[in-house]
Amino acid sequence: MTIREIEAKSILRKHKKIDSWFVSQYGMNFYGGCAHNCVYCDGRSEKYQVGGEFGKDVTVKVNAVDVLRRELDPKRKRTPLKRSYIGVGGGVGDSYQPIEKKYQLTRKALKLMYEYKFPVHMLTKSTLIERDIDILKKISEQNRAVVSFSFSSVDDEISAIFEPGVPPPSERLKTLALFKSEGIPCGMFLLPVIPFITDKPELMEESVKKATEVGLDFVIFGGMTLKDGRQKDYFFNVLKEHYPDIITEYQKIYTGDKWGQASGEYYDSINLTFNRIAKKYKMPKRIPYALFKDILSENDLVIVILEHIDYLLKLEGKRSPYGYAAYSISQLKEPLSAMKGELRKLKGVGRTTEGIILEILETGNSSYYEKLLKS
Ligand code: SF4
Repeated sequence: MTIREIEAKSILRKHKKIDSWFVSQYGMNFYGGCAHNCVYCDGRSEKYQVGGEFGKDVTVKVNAVDVLRRELDPKRKRTPLKRSYIGVGGGVGDSYQPIEKKYQLTRKALKLMYEYKFPVHMLTKSTLIERDIDILKKISEQNRAVVSFSFSSVDDEISAIFEPGVPPPSERLKTLALFKSEGIPCGMFLLPVIPFITDKPELMEESVKKATEVGLDFVIFGGMTLKDGRQKDYFFNVLKEHYPDIITEYQKIYTGDKWGQASGEYYDSINLTFNRIAKKYKMPKRIPYALFKDILSENDLVIVILEHIDYLLKLEGKRSPYGYAAYSISQLKEPLSAMKGELRKLKGVGRTTEGIILEILETGNSSYYEKLLKS
């Protein structure tokens, strides 16, 4: 493995609009590339321009803490940062990959987040996060911290093939149980399920069952993308070695979409399966309302609720206008409460959506959303 130290110009990455999966306006990474080397990782794709050999070469943003302090410090900003969780992890490098033991950039960044009172949402596959339970507990008590782990399944043997550099799912679940026992909300990103391997209903059910046993607050589900080029080539080499019989199945669903998407029919079918299982276990499929209701601006609260409604309807196989309406709202500069009489002028906002928005502005929630969550 080779380590390259670099100086970063910025650390906080502002999303174009609030990300309703993480309920975050900002994300950050301290490392480029990831020694965890998951076979399906899309960080390997040319699109992200991670230099060197993915899985072996890692860049370290050695000045990350100084840059982040400048970015978080309200005295140095003309416009204050937007309130939301700050997402730590995901993207092209796990914040708790082995190199973090030496550089401790994630730990130092968490201390800053505590100092400047920002809620955080962690996403990792590494049990090294246990080292930071002290600071995460303090953040959770002061504002809020959510700890999420990603899984492609809870099967240790399959994980050893596709996630060779991380602790097995059974260990990750133990770490989640530890955080839960300290009163920190936790979730599972069942993402990506691997087509024809971990997307089998019985394996998906086992994951949701285990999440329920550990007392997780939510399970966020998603299928796999596979972009042509380095990502697909690497994945297919491993597939040929361990599952040669299903390569033709892959070729049928991954037909060269530029985002690496599988066919719509495939995603619809796994979504329906997941929806059925999540309902059976009464498992929330998005971060629950109670964990974000009091940390967002009114526009962001409306956007997140509309996008959650949109997602819940899609899982039922229904089309919805709410995602489009959420996007229109994300383009606004003024607060929605200042334009109550003009909501219908927004693209995608019809009478029903207008009613939902007005209810959220008045009560902080939507009865339709609550009903969907319970159905
Ligand atoms: S832990 Fe995440 S970032 Fe690292 S290789 Fe695996 S999927 Fe990619």
